[in-house]
Amino acid sequence: MTPSEKWRDLDPATIVLHAGRGADTPGAPTNVPPVLASIYKPGVDLLYGRNGNPTWAAFEEVLGALEGGSALAFASGMAASNAIFDLLPLGAKVVAPANAYYNTVLSLRDRADKGFLELITVDITGAGATEATLEGATLLWLESPSNPLIGISDIVRLSRAAHSQGALVVVDSTFATPLLQTPLSLGADLVVHSATKFISGHSDVVMGAVVTADDEMAEKLLRRRTSGGAIPGPLEAYLALRGLRSLPVRLERAQANAAAIAERLEAHPRVERVLYPGLASHPGHELAATQMRGFGAMLSFQVTGGATGADQVCDSTRLILNATSLGAIETTMERRARWGNETSAPENLIRMSVGCEALNDLWADLAQALG
Ligand SMILES: *Cc1c(COP(=O)(O)O)cnc(C)c1O
Repeated sequence: MTPSEKWRDLDPATIVLHAGRGADTPGAPTNVPPVLASIYKPGVDLLYGRNGNPTWAAFEEVLGALEGGSALAFASGMAASNAIFDLLPLGAKVVAPANAYYNTVLSLRDRADKGFLELITVDITGAGATEATLEGATLLWLESPSNPLIGISDIVRLSRAAHSQGALVVVDSTFATPLLQTPLSLGADLVVHSATKFISGHSDVVMGAVVTADDEMAEKLLRRRTSGGAIPGPLEAYLALRGLRSLPVRLERAQANAAAIAERLEAHPRVERVLYPGLASHPGHELAATQMRGFGAMLSFQVTGGATGADQVCDSTRLILNATSLGAIETTMERRARWGNETSAPENLIRMSVGCEALNDLWADLAQALG
């Protein structure tokens, strides 16, 4: 029985608790501990700490079982994405989102500027990634829901269109988590996660992962990780798996909070627009309902008063942290355009990562900050 067959009939909320428990030998710990080792005694394949680590392997077993493929842990989400970029042949045509996580597009643009690849950015939530745009493409990069505009792209349709051109399809599924969306089952070839976010969930880890059901691709990525060296620390892998085990309960609570807050924000006079896929007003609402198992805990909203108005709101909260990053158990928000480089965010857009606080306290804090 392969690992994925073992978990096939179980709910992800169960798999996440029982996969990755290490050896069945009597007396073995039921959590694979952080194995702090750069070298191993000879006699097994694993000899050196850059090649593999039992704590990474436990994390990878769980994530792979959830996504339906083989997972590989990396030092960060960006390290995972760049490992995929590193596999592209010289001159590859890459179709990527115009609106997506800033560093993903930046890394591709840097490579394009050096002449390593041809980069075309399109609106992946609409009709942008057409058959014509994809002609001759090597790679289609998707991010759904996208950062920070919470755009939804049609993974089934776009995977089919890309495959008809012989292109590989990658989905950055960080906002959805492995519980709300499994891109490999929708036709994608690779899934990327910033495990820094919901997977770890406690603002204390930077880590990433790639998942694929293609063994040859997994082998190439493993070789790239080993020679590239963008490996996570064993403690990070331990914390990421510890976080992942409680993701179902965290997400249930955070998602319910997000849905309630999105509705209340939409009715608030200081709010011009709310972007949350659970709202009927969201252009990707129906699509999200078909390809996701829930609408997640990320939302963005635009307030009156421009950049200054949005800064005032972010600076006026008592509980909600005015901080970057996302996916933590505590609620955070920020005016995304404050970074200047974030071309896709309107200046008055606040991205909010809704956490697990009591809804009444969260809303009271937000309401007084908006007031
Ligand atoms: C944070 C993030 C990344 C990058 O992940 P790191 O772990 O910070 O390197 C990639 N994609 C999305 C959607 C993100 O939110």
